[in-house]
Amino acid sequence: MALSSGPLPCTGARAGDILRGFVPATTSPSIPGPAEGSAMSYQHTTIPETGDKIRVAGGRLAVTDQPILGFVEGDGIGPDITRACLRIWDAAVERAYGGRRKVHWAELYMGEKAAGLFDGDYFPQETRDALRDLVVSIKGPLTTPVGGGFRSLNVGLRQVLDLYACVRPVRYYAGVPSPLRRPQDVDVVIFRENTEDVYAGIEYEAGSAENEKLARFLRDEMGAGFFEGAGLGVKPISPFGTNRLVRKAIRYAIDHGRRSVTFVHKGNIMKFTEGAFRNWGYELARSEFAEHTITEDELWEKHDGRQPEGKIVVKDRIADIMFQMMLLRPAEFDVIATSNLNGDYLSDAVAAEVGGVGIAPGANMADHVAVFEATHGTAPKYANQDKVNPGSLLFSGVMMFDYIGWPEVGRTITAAYEKTIARKVVTYDFARQTEGATEVPTSGFASAIIDAM
Ligand code: NAP
Repeated sequence: MALSSGPLPCTGARAGDILRGFVPATTSPSIPGPAEGSAMSYQHTTIPETGDKIRVAGGRLAVTDQPILGFVEGDGIGPDITRACLRIWDAAVERAYGGRRKVHWAELYMGEKAAGLFDGDYFPQETRDALRDLVVSIKGPLTTPVGGGFRSLNVGLRQVLDLYACVRPVRYYAGVPSPLRRPQDVDVVIFRENTEDVYAGIEYEAGSAENEKLARFLRDEMGAGFFEGAGLGVKPISPFGTNRLVRKAIRYAIDHGRRSVTFVHKGNIMKFTEGAFRNWGYELARSEFAEHTITEDELWEKHDGRQPEGKIVVKDRIADIMFQMMLLRPAEFDVIATSNLNGDYLSDAVAAEVGGVGIAPGANMADHVAVFEATHGTAPKYANQDKVNPGSLLFSGVMMFDYIGWPEVGRTITAAYEKTIARKVVTYDFARQTEGATEVPTSGFASAIIDAM
């Protein structure tokens, strides 16, 4: 699948249902007009009056030809890559639609820039409100403030907006340096559960009163045995959390003509959490998507291994073997649904197969609200040097344009990117792996892509 093959689905909506074309907000009965809560209600955030807010109507995104999209510049290298990407996105929209469509960008504040404006507040209330209000936004990387209110701003963002699915498409772009012999076989979309598992924050430090209380309960009442002085963490995995993630993954597979959905788990060891994730996944596929899916067992028992037209194969793999398979036989995998910790490791490992986190895109999504993001960090040693690769944020933008139903933008960017890489015009990270490369700064790379459109 190409990243640009269509919009990511929203839970409760089919991709094809996402409204396309001009739908005047003021005249369409199905789309509420621009919401209250305009620029007046924000202290520092300016919502452009020239554009229309994206709305959710009847479980679908309603996007006019002049949508407002939010962006958070981010810390460290964030400003450099955001500046470059805004130029590329705007040029691609212009190129794809010849002026008929235009994005009206609203800058939202998180991280160090927010702290400067909002008296030390790294994630101000008005940014939370605006992210929800604008529905679709994109962000650069953020430094995790030491001693801040959240363990991490990114974790805080996911919690505040209940962005329960981390979506990471990983595919190969011709010419990008890769350690694999056949990197073109890598084309997966990883749906990682974002809110549960050992990331739920239920952890008790060794020596604390809470830890001792829990240790006593586990030993005395539950008969559990473990070493003295152990730190303790809890790994909750629920049917609710599993089902909404698996539902999003299967719906994506259906909407994008994907061939399989693989549940990746460690259920052989953690039967009631990871194993339950797998079992609930199969149950959901059976109860909600019976007409679209068959299991791998059914594929062999009833269809002699030949995949029936229009059916997605639902299968599962244990996490450790999955890492090996993604290196040796990546073509066997398509959409992947997995729990939080597995997904964290797997998405970076798979990204490394086709160029690394400097180019891997991502999104954190609720049912409709979505925040697209660069998957790497702030790389502070390169801040303000106009040096790094903007690819991760750029392709997160491609995902975003697909999501709002503007796939032509992604196609324009992807084609121009591949042309630029084929000419060996690259930023420092690819230059050091590419013989005969012309190294350019972030801004120069953006110009080269725009020229190639
Ligand atoms: P990092 O910022 O991702 O940087 C690690 C290395 O990855 C860099 O030194 C660089 O490698 C390479 N790299 C990252 N982005 C690149 C780009 N756009 N182009 C080319 N190479 C790139 O990870 P970190 O140093 O562990 O974390 C730094 C800060 O970022 C921390 O405060 C962390 O909390 C934060 N962080 C934020 C997010 C987020 O906002 N989503 C995610 C992860 C980390 P070379 O030095 O080899 O060139």
